[in-house]
Amino acid sequence: MPEDTIFSRIVRGEIPADVVHQDDLVTAFRDIQPLAPTHILIVPNRIIPTLADVSADDEAVLGRMLRVAADLAADEGVARNGYRVMINCREHGGQEVYHLHLHLLGGRPLGRMLIR
Ligand code: AMP
Repeated sequence: MPEDTIFSRIVRGEIPADVVHQDDLVTAFRDIQPLAPTHILIVPNRIIPTLADVSADDEAVLGRMLRVAADLAADEGVARNGYRVMINCREHGGQEVYHLHLHLLGGRPLGRMLIR
């Protein structure tokens, strides 16, 4: 079993967070240091450290993460103008918390994907 993470403590309600969605597979909460008017993290309830660690058994949770992102984008009112979903993976991807999470960002123009 992977080590406990700050996000699994949020999933279990042990530390405070602005939770906007929770179901049997995933939990979504607002990023503590938002980079856009809407910045929500969507995490599997069960720890998967990185995208590089997923297996065929994780297909349901990965699909749920994307569907919840789309639903929350609609709820937040950012779907019409558009938004970005992002997963950082390991060191070169800039991942800080080793509990897989999808960033949902929107509410302003986000520019190009990466700085050249
Ligand atoms: P990453 O760099 O993809 O690993 O992103 C980690 C994200 O988690 C950052 O955007 C942080 O601001 C966010 N974060 C870290 N701790 C918390 C927390 N306790 N509640 C909400 N967001 C957090």
